[in-house]
Amino acid sequence: MKRISILVPCYNEEENVPLFWQEITRVFAESLPAYELELLYVDDGSRDGTLAAIRALATKDSRVKYLSFSRNFGKEAGLYAGLEHATGDFVAVMDADLQDPPSLLPEMTAYLESGEYDVVATRRVDRKGEPPIRSFFAHCFYRLIRKISNVDIVDGARDFRLMTRQYVNSLLELKEYNRFSKGLFGWVGYRVKWLSYENMPRLKGETKWSFWKLFLYSIDGIVAFSVVPVVLAAAFGVLFCGAAFLFLLIVFVRALLYGDPVAGWPSLVCIILLVAGIQFFFMGVMGEYIAKTYMEVKRRPVYLCRESNVKGAGPDPARDSREDATRDSREDADAAQGEQG
Ligand code: UDP
Ligand code: MG
Repeated sequence: MKRISILVPCYNEEENVPLFWQEITRVFAESLPAYELELLYVDDGSRDGTLAAIRALATKDSRVKYLSFSRNFGKEAGLYAGLEHATGDFVAVMDADLQDPPSLLPEMTAYLESGEYDVVATRRVDRKGEPPIRSFFAHCFYRLIRKISNVDIVDGARDFRLMTRQYVNSLLELKEYNRFSKGLFGWVGYRVKWLSYENMPRLKGETKWSFWKLFLYSIDGIVAFSVVPVVLAAAFGVLFCGAAFLFLLIVFVRALLYGDPVAGWPSLVCIILLVAGIQFFFMGVMGEYIAKTYMEVKRRPVYLCRESNVKGAGPDPARDSREDATRDSREDADAAQGEQG
């Protein structure tokens, strides 16, 4: 029997966790009875009752596995941890808020089973329910990154996708610390089938992405998948040197012809400010690349797991207490035997 792992990163999703379980188990029972389900929740350092909700599910359903981080490491870390520990032949990534419809799973599975595709990815056809200003900047970002990187990053693509084991293993080979999944998915390639669906509102709770978080994430994406900004810095340098020589020539010729060497100091101030501004901007750009390199070379782990019921991932309180109980009873039995002897 083939196994499908559903990997769900969760950050403060206590209400969504049981609802998601309900929906996914229903879809598997009704439409995917030939597949074994592994539901892997990754609790990304939630501050509400998410972990308790997951633990409760895990005690009543052995298909529920979880990893719980020592703090909030971000969705990308959650995805990485989940991919590392998922054991399925196929692995799907889904939001806990049911914005990614589980009803698409049977169709996605059929595409992978056909053997013609290695991954079925999804994109939303609209951005209904999203603030227009956010949609505008998102479109600008995608247009920009598609121009300046040679990785296929699709506008409107969700992280919701079903992947083969081979595809997952390839993703896991990319061990970088700054993980920008939308780019990593494109980078590994393979044969991709795209499905579209209409944007759905979040079931419960609020989006975890503020405008500022998204802005920083987009910079991560650009730095991770393009060196065009650095090339641009060099190009500006050449451009300004050329302009400087041209001006020098003009000033020189004018001084020779008209003898007017000191006019034009306001324009000089503007030019100095402009050049200094551009220099600082590109220093910032280069600093960004150096900072990212610095983080990469430290080789810090992408996440730390505080608790888990996945073997080898972290301590499992339920399993540990079971083991304690058996050890205690064994010791009691040994002691009793010792006394008898
Ligand atoms: N998420 C996470 N860690 C974070 C932020 C979000 O694991 O630091 C999870 C979140 O619980 C959800 C998924 O990532 O399951 C997508 O987040 P959200 O729904 O807020 O994003 P949106 O759908 O609005 O893009
Ligand atoms: Mg969502």
